[in-house]
Amino acid sequence: MVSDESRRWIDAWKRVGEGERNGIRCPRNDDDFLILEWIQGKVPDSPVGEWWLHCPTCGAQSFMRVASEPD
Ligand SMILES: [Zn+2]
Repeated sequence: MVSDESRRWIDAWKRVGEGERNGIRCPRNDDDFLILEWIQGKVPDSPVGEWWLHCPTCGAQSFMRVASEPD
């Protein structure tokens, strides 16, 4: 069974995937807006990296692997 929090993270990833970078509420506690940081993958010449989504207030975090660099 998928928890409500998991569902909200999935929704947050989806919004990031659609290009949203600001204004996504913390999926865990709804206490702040998520901060997004791009982490480039370590493999040379590979566009694969990750978005690190984290909440500055409660510390909830999640990594979202993506296949191409952000715009
Ligand atoms: Zn939070």
